[in-house]
Amino acid sequence: MPARILDGLKIRDEIFAELKSEITGLHAQGIRPGLAAVLVGENPASQVYVKSKIAACEQLGMASWLHTPLASVSTDYMLQLVRDLNADDNVDGILIQLPLPSQIDSKRVLEAVDPAKDVDGFHPVSMGRLVSNRPGLVACTPAGCMELLRRNEIPIEGANAVVLGRSDIVGKPMALLLLHANATVTICHSKTRELPGVIRRADILVAAIGKAGYVQPDWIKPGAAVIDVGTNKVTDAAEAAQLLRNFPERLEKFRVKGNVLIGDVHPDAFQIAGALSPVPRGVGPMTITMLMSNTVKAARLRRASSAAVARP
Ligand code: NAP
Repeated sequence: MPARILDGLKIRDEIFAELKSEITGLHAQGIRPGLAAVLVGENPASQVYVKSKIAACEQLGMASWLHTPLASVSTDYMLQLVRDLNADDNVDGILIQLPLPSQIDSKRVLEAVDPAKDVDGFHPVSMGRLVSNRPGLVACTPAGCMELLRRNEIPIEGANAVVLGRSDIVGKPMALLLLHANATVTICHSKTRELPGVIRRADILVAAIGKAGYVQPDWIKPGAAVIDVGTNKVTDAAEAAQLLRNFPERLEKFRVKGNVLIGDVHPDAFQIAGALSPVPRGVGPMTITMLMSNTVKAARLRRASSAAVARP
């Protein structure tokens, strides 16, 4: 039986509706949650990402500011910009779009962000709060994966969860969130032995390695929930033909367009998994959604009177 689709666009719409009502409540207190995005240089992919984040702010009635320093700016310039944004009371969230040009010390810049405005959840203070299961701002992509699981009522407590990938922005926070939700978590990486066997034990698999179609259908436990974080642009015709051998309509689109987005899990896993987040339209929309959610949360925690916004 084909997998149930974990539809990121549907969950995004649900969360946006909830955020809109919370934002209306904040407006009534004279607070307009606001996100400042910093985009250094002219990386086309980063420009697309930042544009969609600003558009989401507008859609939700939030303020947004876009800072676009030249690609040649120094670390000192960036540190001063971050200090200015930290000091601006209208700014609730600061987003430094990565990657930064190589002459900039990215770690220093990210660590300069006020943790109260760290809506990407990359600051060591935010990571520390997550490790110790204290409330805080959590990295958007793994937080979005948790929403996909929870809102689709995938049982997490007691489940064997395998996280494939151990990056600071996806794999590690993902594993911690699953652990705090009482899953039994295994983290795999490029040195893991007998990966197919480890993955075969997973009731929940989160794949985040950046390799198109790497996880083979027969590695997946029948009925497992699969969250595919990978976003890989495939342009090679032979690779696309192999990956999309059972998806003639998508293959036809590839032939017209010359590229296709493929996750880290082979598309044929659709026939084995019990539930699966598609690529695109799965985790991707959830990342921006959680950025919006974090910005509203940061505004609430920093500026709103606690009585007016008491939440469970
Ligand atoms: P990353 O920093 O490159 O980390 C990749 C991880 O995968 C590393 O831990 C690496 O292991 C592991 N890995 C690589 N090859 C492997 C293999 N053959 N077997 C087992 N593990 C392997 O990547 P990332 O930033 O976490 O991103 C991962 C993917 O998610 C990318 O496709 C990225 O585009 C996508 N992504 C999507 C979103 C979204 O919003 N949809 C957001 C973020 C990322 P080692 O540590 O041993 O090197």
